[in-house]
Amino acid sequence: MTAEVQIRSVSHRFQSFTALEGIDLEIAAGEFIVLLGPSGCGKTTLLSIIGGFLTPSEGEVLIGGRDMTRVAPKDRPTTTMFQDYALFPHMNLRDNVAFGLRMRGVGRKARHDRALEMLEMVGLAAFAARKPHALSGGQRQRVALARALAVEPDVLLLDEPLGALDLKLRRQMQDELKNIQRKVGTTFIHVTHDQEEAMAIADRIVVMNRGHIEHFGTPEDVYLRPRTLFSADFMGEMNRIPVRREGGTSISPLGPLPFDLGEGLLCLRPENIGFDGSFSMGRARLQEVAFFGTHHRCHFVPLKAPDLTLTVNLPQGAHPAPGAEVELFGRDPVLLSEDV
Ligand code: ATP
Repeated sequence: MTAEVQIRSVSHRFQSFTALEGIDLEIAAGEFIVLLGPSGCGKTTLLSIIGGFLTPSEGEVLIGGRDMTRVAPKDRPTTTMFQDYALFPHMNLRDNVAFGLRMRGVGRKARHDRALEMLEMVGLAAFAARKPHALSGGQRQRVALARALAVEPDVLLLDEPLGALDLKLRRQMQDELKNIQRKVGTTFIHVTHDQEEAMAIADRIVVMNRGHIEHFGTPEDVYLRPRTLFSADFMGEMNRIPVRREGGTSISPLGPLPFDLGEGLLCLRPENIGFDGSFSMGRARLQEVAFFGTHHRCHFVPLKAPDLTLTVNLPQGAHPAPGAEVELFGRDPVLLSEDV
């Protein structure tokens, strides 16, 4: 029902193009893992290697402690759910969900019971006799999930399964996917390029860039403590302030910092700058402001560094007025180096 997955020194080349380089990952049984990164970074290639649709040029894939590197997809304890989860149009939902079990020679009664149980889990038991065309996009997606889980894989691989849904439905399905994963305890490995989706569903996120892993950590880790500028920017907006060192003091264009950070870029999320914090960032003038519902998004120009613009998210209750001059404070800064 669940298994750990180990990826050891996996590289993959398509002719002369290197799509993956030196990938190492230790995924625990029952984890919800998201592979996140821009188009072309190698997410689908890695998923295909775990599912057995591609054999890596180098390295090994272990599932449940067994070497699966050269094992065919059908002989692996994995199921892959693709974005175009083609349901059989002429079959009702129960038969669609039971299909994989039929292929495995499971008897009629047992597979129908199992299919109904799975439809129950995704909240569609009442529609068991319907055909797929009589469902909404979100409902079809849930049937595809029930079908994938009916065969009890140890690991479910999902390639952009929510990509075709509109934003509101997508957010709703993310919650459902997370709930269902918790209920079944199967290891889920899910591909997306949407960082909000990754944060909403993952136990841990693999941030990928050009065939390698930039960061592997919890949503809090990758958002609050990014290891590289790429991860920092991919997870959301980040203010960058250059910092240099002079006689044991870290100096930024805003003035000396009250702590010795070293050299690099002082990075602060927009919500980590405001009217209070752990260190002063000096006075700044509010240039522009827009109300986003959850916060006001502001652009401030520091008086000491007019070339710099700081993006600051102020809470709903703040009433920022363009032109106002205030003292800004920062908290939870991260220092990153420029050359990555
Ligand atoms: P997307 O989000 O766009 O699906 P991805 O991160 O899943 O992107 P992959 O599909 O893994 O990216 O592709 C990684 C790189 O390998 C891309 O540059 C792609 O063009 C290349 N690639 C993928 N499949 C092949 C192939 N069969 N032959 C040659 N190059 C390929």
